[in-house]
Amino acid sequence: MPTVLLIEDDDESRRATSLLFARRDWTVFQAGDGAAGIELALKHRPDVILCDLLMPKANGFQVCRAIRQQLQPTKIIVISGRDYGVDRASALEAGADEYLLKPITWEILSAAIDRVLPTPREPLAPGEMFEFHAPSTRVKLWGVRGSIPVPGAATIRYGGNTTCVEVRADGEIIILDAGSGIRLLGMDLEKEFEDRPMKLSLLITHTHWDHIQGLPFFQPAYNQKNQIRVLGYEGARAGLAAILAGQMETPFFPVSLRDLQSNIAIEELKEMKFTIGKVRVQSKFANHPGICAGYRLFTSAGSIAFFPDNEPYELLKLHIADRDQTNIEDAREFAQNERAKLVEFLLGCDVLIMDAQYTDAEYEKHIGWGHGSLSRAVSLALAANVAKLILFHHDPNHDDNAIDDMLERARLLVLESGKAMEVEAAQEGSEIWLAPKQHR
Ligand SMILES: [Zn+2]
Ligand SMILES: [Zn+2]
Repeated sequence: MPTVLLIEDDDESRRATSLLFARRDWTVFQAGDGAAGIELALKHRPDVILCDLLMPKANGFQVCRAIRQQLQPTKIIVISGRDYGVDRASALEAGADEYLLKPITWEILSAAIDRVLPTPREPLAPGEMFEFHAPSTRVKLWGVRGSIPVPGAATIRYGGNTTCVEVRADGEIIILDAGSGIRLLGMDLEKEFEDRPMKLSLLITHTHWDHIQGLPFFQPAYNQKNQIRVLGYEGARAGLAAILAGQMETPFFPVSLRDLQSNIAIEELKEMKFTIGKVRVQSKFANHPGICAGYRLFTSAGSIAFFPDNEPYELLKLHIADRDQTNIEDAREFAQNERAKLVEFLLGCDVLIMDAQYTDAEYEKHIGWGHGSLSRAVSLALAANVAKLILFHHDPNHDDNAIDDMLERARLLVLESGKAMEVEAAQEGSEIWLAPKQHR
């Protein structure tokens, strides 16, 4: 018999919902506040929890977080009278599987339960793929560091792995870059999919080592049931396939790319607009040594832009003009035009993951190294009306405290601007949920 726990402080509506379940032979547990709800959840481990948002003792977000930390299989459906996109996103981020609006009918409830409860697995027909359907677009950071992995006590909070970001949207699993963080993602995918095949798209910005070095350690690449599509632009000196194979040649690695068991298709991108399933992708070349792209992914729940390596032109061009004794006004105009193009590309982005490797003082000493500075990243995101900026590609020499300081500085800059942009420093293992477009 399936079990449900109702956490709701309004006695009348809790009783009414409880009747709906009891009539259909569910075992029902009830809690009148958040704290009691958490306690009953851990005691009875129900299949489904229905949870209100505004409750005494612990609100719905706290309940979701507490339960999600300890009970992974239990499905949580948040039921709220409020239709704010931000509430919905926060609930999903806190661990809810669904967010429903009051008033609730049995039809709405049972449809939601059908969506969240796993149905017994039918064997897949040959060639058929397991499709992933998240309740909304999810971005997960698996590697946030630039240049080289830096594990250790001083980087434990923000993480030491190099660039890898997972985006799940519209039935697709899109992996942005294959730095050392992809190893962790691979292990996580193996656990989730077990013996079912995976269909993955790996989108590479460029082939600097910190963006591809994890690929030889990506477990799903060693299993023939999996299909991996690798997409990226041709490098300055060699094609994408040749470079990816190069790091696995015998002087460097014991297994060659050819010998990986999965079905890996490497596709060199020619166009600046393409699609991965239902996700539209736009590319723009970044200012970074060699060929390096940035991407903007348009999902049904909003867009995510990814520029892990990019140097703004403003100071760089002035510096070069000064060095070469060329016209400073021309240099300034060029830099302004390039910035305007990038602002246009990023305009209205929900999440921007941006190279902010250096503090402003450090950048002065690293002009021309191909990376960004804190205040330039913030001002670019503000100009493009980005909703959430993620400071990314942390310098390997920055420990957790240094990144804390940079984040604080960035938030101060936003405050001074008078705009309402959110800023976070990328943290390994953290997730960002985009609020789904309203549907009732
Ligand atoms: Zn890099
Ligand atoms: Zn690079």
